[in-house]
Amino acid sequence: MSAAYGGVAVVRGVDLVVRGGEIVVLLGANGAGKSTLCRVAAGVLPAERGRVLVRGREATADGAVRRARRGVLLAPEGRGIFAGLSIEENLALQLDGKDDREAVYARFPALAARRAVLAGALSGGEQQLLALAPLLQRPPAVLVADEPSLGLAPRVVEEVHGLLTELRAGGTALLLVEERAADVLGIADTVAYLARGEVAWCGPRADVDPDRLAEAYLGWRAGV
Ligand code: ATP
Repeated sequence: MSAAYGGVAVVRGVDLVVRGGEIVVLLGANGAGKSTLCRVAAGVLPAERGRVLVRGREATADGAVRRARRGVLLAPEGRGIFAGLSIEENLALQLDGKDDREAVYARFPALAARRAVLAGALSGGEQQLLALAPLLQRPPAVLVADEPSLGLAPRVVEEVHGLLTELRAGGTALLLVEERAADVLGIADTVAYLARGEVAWCGPRADVDPDRLAEAYLGWRAGV
C-alpha cells in the first residue's frame, strides 16, 4: 500500500505481513514513514493506493472503529489514558468485569496500591502500563504499537516489552515501532527497515545485518 499527506507520498508500495503470534519490528530513520504506516494499518489514515487485509479479508475501506471491531488496535505514541480519571476508572472503561480488573492489579501491584489515584499523577511508565495492561485481559487480534516505550526508563521498557511478548504468546499479531533498535531486537521475530517510505529490507531477526542497521539509522553504509 501507499500513503500520502495532501498528495505528497510518504509511504510507497509497502507490502508487509504480520502473522498471529509474531512481532514485526519496524525500524527506520526519523521521517521514514513508520508512524504513517502504523496509522494506515490501524485505519486512522486511509491508504492512498493498495489494500489492507485483516485475516486475509478486505479491510481497506474500514476506518479505525471498524478496524478495532475486527480486532486491530492502535497503541499510539504517548499514553492512551484519561489523566483526569483514577486508575480504577481508567481500567473500568476497558474492563467492566471486576475480576478482569483484579487480574490487572495482581499482575501489576504498583497499580493496585494506587487504584484511587488520578492517572495524570502517575509516572510515564505507570501510565503506559495502565494503558497497555487491559490488553492482557482482552488480547486483540492485531496490536499496532507506535513507540510504546518512548521516554520510559529501561526497567519500564523491559516491562512493556514483557507485556508485548505475553500478547504474542497469546496469538496476537504485533507491529511494533521503537526508536531504540538495540532494546527491541531482543523481542523481534521479523524486522523491516523503512527508508524514505519504502521497505528497504525485511527478514528474520537472525538475519539482521548491522551494516544495514547503520544505513537505515544514519544514512550511511558502514565501511564506505
Ligand atoms: P519519527 O521516527 O520521527 O516518528 P516516522 O518514521 O514515524 O518518523 P512519519 O511520522 O510517518 O515518520 O512521517 C513521515 C513523513 O510524513 C515525514 O516527512 C513527516 O514530516 C510527514 N508527515 C507526518 N505526519 C504528517 C501530517 N499529518 N501531515 C503532513 N505530513 C506529515
